[in-house]
Amino acid sequence: MRLSAKAIAIDIGGSHASCAIVAAGEILAAERVPIHDTALLETHLPAVADAVRRSLRRAGMVALDCAGVALSFPGIVDSGAGRVLSTPRGKYADARRLDLAHWCLKEFCLPLRVENDARMALLGERFAGAARGFDDIVMMTLGTGVGAAAMMEGRLVRGKHFQGGCLGGHLPVVWKGRRCICGNIGCIEAEASTWALPEICASWPRYAESALAREPRIDFEALFRCSRAGDSVAIRIRKRCMRIWAAGIVGLIHAYDPERVVLGGGVMRSADDVLPSLREYVQEHAWTPWGTVDIRAAELGSDAGLWGAIPLLSEAC
Ligand SMILES: [Zn+2]
Repeated sequence: MRLSAKAIAIDIGGSHASCAIVAAGEILAAERVPIHDTALLETHLPAVADAVRRSLRRAGMVALDCAGVALSFPGIVDSGAGRVLSTPRGKYADARRLDLAHWCLKEFCLPLRVENDARMALLGERFAGAARGFDDIVMMTLGTGVGAAAMMEGRLVRGKHFQGGCLGGHLPVVWKGRRCICGNIGCIEAEASTWALPEICASWPRYAESALAREPRIDFEALFRCSRAGDSVAIRIRKRCMRIWAAGIVGLIHAYDPERVVLGGGVMRSADDVLPSLREYVQEHAWTPWGTVDIRAAELGSDAGLWGAIPLLSEAC
């Protein structure tokens, strides 16, 4: 596929699926499909196919005007075979047995590539966002979970079992730490992510006296807000989360030797709160005798995975 061609992009998330028709320089049409129940994927596929068809009509196109379909999925996937290999616990448990390539041929008469969502975000940010012009990149998404992906010398790191680079959020940073959903202990995700944060806060000493205890929803926006207001518990938890993320970034830098680290995910809505201390820690602690790794906020937000469609389909299998 040429980089100038058009593609159908589908991004399966935890609360919605995004469907789009993507061209080299723009998203021609897009639609979101709400997902209220993530137990199974198959139940959502008819609505996703309908949303793709509506997007095609709005773009004045038919499916065969596109070179293929790129599907971004939150799990471990075999991108060449178009199969999901493993899903996060309790989510889309049927995805491993689904023949998504067959579904795609039946619905659109087009070939399918499936890729991990963090890798898709990296491809998107390299194609049209914060990693343009770079061949050696680490991407980390800080949000409900912690996603990661790596590119070395212009090629996505995938590895023998398709796990390479994309389990960066499950690097252990506290060996006696919290139990993670992946089965490991002390992962970055278990120690500093939106799903883990309420429990981290609740178990913190003197939490009941903190302004956090009066927040209707404990997330990083609430944590940063209480921290800025001078709440001592929030300040300490914020500092600990920063250290966890920063230690994780140093680990990824040591593993993948990037020129640029791109940080995305919902936490980066508070980029001004986050970036300076992460940069300072990494500059002090990463072993990079050649210079300093550039750490940037992602530019494409939740569209990054959609933008990844064209570079994914352009890749040699
Ligand atoms: Zn984990």
